[in-house]
Amino acid sequence: MAVEQTLVIIKPDGLVKSLTGNILTRLSEAKLIIVGAKAVRVSRELAEKHYEHLKDKPFFEELIQYIMGELHKTYRVVAFVYEGEDAIKKVRDIVGDTNPENANPVTIRGAYGRITTSGVFENVVHASSSPEDAEKEIKLWFEPHELVEVLYPVKEVTLEKVTKKVWA
Ligand code: UDP
Ligand code: MG
Repeated sequence: MAVEQTLVIIKPDGLVKSLTGNILTRLSEAKLIIVGAKAVRVSRELAEKHYEHLKDKPFFEELIQYIMGELHKTYRVVAFVYEGEDAIKKVRDIVGDTNPENANPVTIRGAYGRITTSGVFENVVHASSSPEDAEKEIKLWFEPHELVEVLYPVKEVTLEKVTKKVWA
């Protein structure tokens, strides 16, 4: 078994159902460590990149609205990077099947997911499904300085005329 990283996202339905503590408690059973965590307001660009593999599906637009928080009127998700031996499978086992109706009822998705009337799976959490996906997703959602470890090679760039917000 190899040490792996995996991206976990508490989706808007998980937040409106007030499941954050419950989800983190269940994930803690996997004995992994958290190397990054943050609340994110999901832009359309981020949503479309994250679900790029589903862009030809009929439910794609609703899926984008879902992850952006439009369906639940809560414009945020909470994202985590977990690390440890066999982390991807351990987390997926706790999270459960993509379709909440097929998911084992003791899993997070089995216990708390639902299928909308238009057929989208509101399944509470995202979890990476392969090492390749995990790397792509972690690099998409986190910048190097937001993680407490250097997970992937970095390079230095010098930016000129950068405008950023600081506390007033
Ligand atoms: N999804 C859906 N219907 C489907 C397949 C996927 O609504 O038939 C949604 C669901 O929210 C899922 C997300 O699209 O979590 C990403 O799909 P993927 O196949 O990557 O499943 P996951 O890796 O999340 O289990
Ligand atoms: Mg997936």
